[in-house]
Amino acid sequence: MKQPELRFADRVVIITGAGAGLGRAYALLFASRGASVVVNDLGGSRHGDGSSTKIADAVVNEIRKNGGKAVANYDSVLDGEKIVKTAIDAFGRIDVIVNNAGILRDKSFSKMSETDWDLVQNVHVKGAFKITRAAWPYFVKQKYGRIIVTASNSGLYGNFGQANYSAAKMGLIGLANTLAIEGQSKNIHTNIIVPTAASRLTEDVLPPEIFEQLKPELIAPVVVWLCHEKCMENGSIIESALGWAGKCHVIRSSGSVLRPDLSSNVTPEDVEKKWSAITDMSTAKHFNSIAEVTAEFLVTIDAMKSGN
Ligand code: NAD
Repeated sequence: MKQPELRFADRVVIITGAGAGLGRAYALLFASRGASVVVNDLGGSRHGDGSSTKIADAVVNEIRKNGGKAVANYDSVLDGEKIVKTAIDAFGRIDVIVNNAGILRDKSFSKMSETDWDLVQNVHVKGAFKITRAAWPYFVKQKYGRIIVTASNSGLYGNFGQANYSAAKMGLIGLANTLAIEGQSKNIHTNIIVPTAASRLTEDVLPPEIFEQLKPELIAPVVVWLCHEKCMENGSIIESALGWAGKCHVIRSSGSVLRPDLSSNVTPEDVEKKWSAITDMSTAKHFNSIAEVTAEFLVTIDAMKSGN
């Protein structure tokens, strides 16, 4: 039997930073699947300076030329409520937010100014907060919503010259982890995409033979699936590049008990002695919730009580 096409009829999707790169690819694919799309883009430089209506307009025109539905919005994500208002005014509802807008201000840490830090935190983290908070009451009322935040391997693994960006990208993972918990019972799902794609943000950092295989269009289907009503994934980190996708997890070692019983203290020497067991990742595992982590504390207390 032919697999039915995933459609977005009557769904309204906001994509931030949709004038170029990944956001543009997302906007075109959502629109081709029947979604009404708000194409948000401030149209500034990759460092966050300036603004222009041109690139958002170009994507809207392309969607309309293909028979799709789209409107442009030129506000910064820091004015998230205005972007949500554009969706409500134009289409009467909001179902999906793809937090994609981003800038870079790369500097080695010793040269990083407070402005470099603040601008990057603001666009990535505060921008995602502002727009998602503005849409949240609509999602709660209609008991439906799909949210994407965009993280990065620079956050997961660190990257020279990107202390500000790495921190912002991990901040978004924390935001998504908690939104996933708060939204679960209301059918509001939040997931994290970790893309690697050819764009103006990566043109000078990736080797050319890899760069040409990293089409943003190969990541868009992953984001579109995560935002479909059939997709039950929630709170997951999904990495994608090159026409490949995989799930990422935080894992923790089994660790080591540092004191023989509940009445003993722990000295730095106890930690030194047990260091290889503390950091032994051979039996590491993933925890699905803070409750699972807390439950392990009870196991540790029992081990101390019995002296094992
Ligand atoms: P891009 O520069 O082509 O697109 C980002 C868009 O965001 C631009 O069009 C820009 O004008 C817009 N934008 C910037 N600040 C804005 C603001 N305040 N309000 C509204 N729009 C704003 O870059 P891209 O590579 O397509 O990146 C998209 C997202 O993916 C970013 O969050 C980026 O950090 C993330 N990312 C990209 C890669 C990659 O390999 N390209 C890797 C990891 C993460």
